[in-house]
Amino acid sequence: MQFYVGDIVQMKKNHPCGAVQWEILRVGMDFRIKCCGCGHMVMLPRVKFEKNVKKVISSTHVEENTQ
Ligand SMILES: [Zn+2]
Repeated sequence: MQFYVGDIVQMKKNHPCGAVQWEILRVGMDFRIKCCGCGHMVMLPRVKFEKNVKKVISSTHVEENTQ
């Protein structure tokens, strides 16, 4: 699964504010994500992010090839 800055993802657990959507602000060894409900930002290791992400809701990334 590939993730890109600007993607909106759904996590397995809702944020305490009730929102389920998060925006990816930074990718790499560590991911920084922002709650779409309250704006709270979280930094977490890639492995932990991948374990907790449920699905990508929307992505601004355009595939340049189908590989
Ligand atoms: Zn929130």
